[in-house]
Amino acid sequence: MKLHTPLLAAAIVLALTACGKSSEPAATPDTLAPAEAAPAPEAAPAVDASATAAATDATAATADQCTFNLEGNDAMQYNVKNIDVPKSCTQFTINLKHTGTMPVAAMGHNVVIAKTSDMNGVAADGATVQPDHVKAGDTRVVAHSGMVGGGQSTSITFDVPKIADGSYSFFCTFPGHSTMMHGTLTLV
Ligand code: ZN
Repeated sequence: MKLHTPLLAAAIVLALTACGKSSEPAATPDTLAPAEAAPAPEAAPAVDASATAAATDATAATADQCTFNLEGNDAMQYNVKNIDVPKSCTQFTINLKHTGTMPVAAMGHNVVIAKTSDMNGVAADGATVQPDHVKAGDTRVVAHSGMVGGGQSTSITFDVPKIADGSYSFFCTFPGHSTMMHGTLTLV
């Protein structure tokens, strides 16, 4: 059989050629390439599959990685100047706790997300807006919380892709606070 096969293939080629160029030349490659059929299958070891699964788990963000607990105090300060936001998070949550005792009217804090270059404008436009100190429908604002006083907490959640197109900051829009109460968001 083996010896006859090349001859048979050659005969078919000759026959096709003889029949004219318009007669189904597409059939020729299959006939001439029996050696390419059924290469020895290399079964993927089960070890590789589990290793891949472990790697996937390692890169997937956990809820803890996609949440940050921010604090504000009676001295008009947040407790950090930067918050790292993992790119692997679909959404990111910032919980703000006012650790002081002063009332919201005197030492109110919130957390607002906007481009760093828009921070002053957002804060200025929100200065006279009660009670949240954020202009209604301000499209520069990615997210903002309500205003809280001592002992109170609030929270914001935003879509991480929304802070991917530039430099973003978080800040407090209580009048006068953003000059001290601001920090950067860094995608990591
Ligand atoms: Zn504040």
